[in-house]
Amino acid sequence: MDLGLTGKRAIVCAASKGLGRACAFSLAREGVNVTINARTRDVLDATAAEIRASTGAEVTTVATDITTPEGQAEVLAACPEPDILVNNCGGPPPGDFRDWDRDDWVKALEANMLSAIFLIKATADGMMARKFGRIVNITSSAVKAPIEILGLSNGARSGLTGFVAGIARQTVRHNVTINNLLPGPFDTERMRSNVRVSAEASGRSFDEAIAERRAGNPAGRFGDPAEFGDACAYLCSAQAGYITGQNLLLDGGHYPGTF
Ligand code: NAP
Repeated sequence: MDLGLTGKRAIVCAASKGLGRACAFSLAREGVNVTINARTRDVLDATAAEIRASTGAEVTTVATDITTPEGQAEVLAACPEPDILVNNCGGPPPGDFRDWDRDDWVKALEANMLSAIFLIKATADGMMARKFGRIVNITSSAVKAPIEILGLSNGARSGLTGFVAGIARQTVRHNVTINNLLPGPFDTERMRSNVRVSAEASGRSFDEAIAERRAGNPAGRFGDPAEFGDACAYLCSAQAGYITGQNLLLDGGHYPGTF
């Protein structure tokens, strides 16, 4: 299927590794010119070089912290009129709710709620005026089924989800869709570090914990980030203009609900 994206421009946040990187790759393969962001410049530049070499797409890098207003402004200056915006950021640390103070909560809200909201605010009107826009927010399966040790994530991402549900119905008339992709366990550094924390807490080895987690998924495996990237590219496609305000879970069937 030709996704109708050749020559479009995308901002993909937090994209030097993991799921963001996979989204940038999949979009670039569809002929999208991507502006990618992360804080660590050398890792970001290496990812950009790989994307250019394997897809031929134009790749611009912005090494900055996307949770700050300055970082958001830098990314927008590099790509002022994006057709596609993929919001992503590192996830907050696991822990016990008793240990989190106001600063911890503000950091989580900036990373997993407010940065996405401000980037949507900065880009949605232009997309509507140009009659094409695709916004995808990477959230988490924790929005549907909270993960005990990730209270900061459960809370902040649910706030973003509520906001998106409201505005996605206002933009779709202008061919601008806003959807959330909810990853379950995908094989990335972040997933492995979370498993390490829960293994330590329960006195098991990392290998034991990871094997148990893998076997416990109905698919019998972790998700491959490339599968996630391709789902993102489809939601960004010309054909996906009638899909908005949705929360699409990619978890190998781990969430047990009928809907
Ligand atoms: P990852 O492999 O750790 O990659 C995170 C990426 O984000 C890196 O490129 C990192 O680069 C960048 N980043 C982190 N903080 C940033 C910031 N403040 N500004 C700009 N870039 C930043 O993580 P992942 O597994 O792809 O996860 C992506 C998101 O999905 C996270 O929010 C995670 O919690 C969520 N999620 C993941 C899973 C999973 O199984 N993988 C499941 C549910 C939810 P720098 O560190 O250099 O900035």
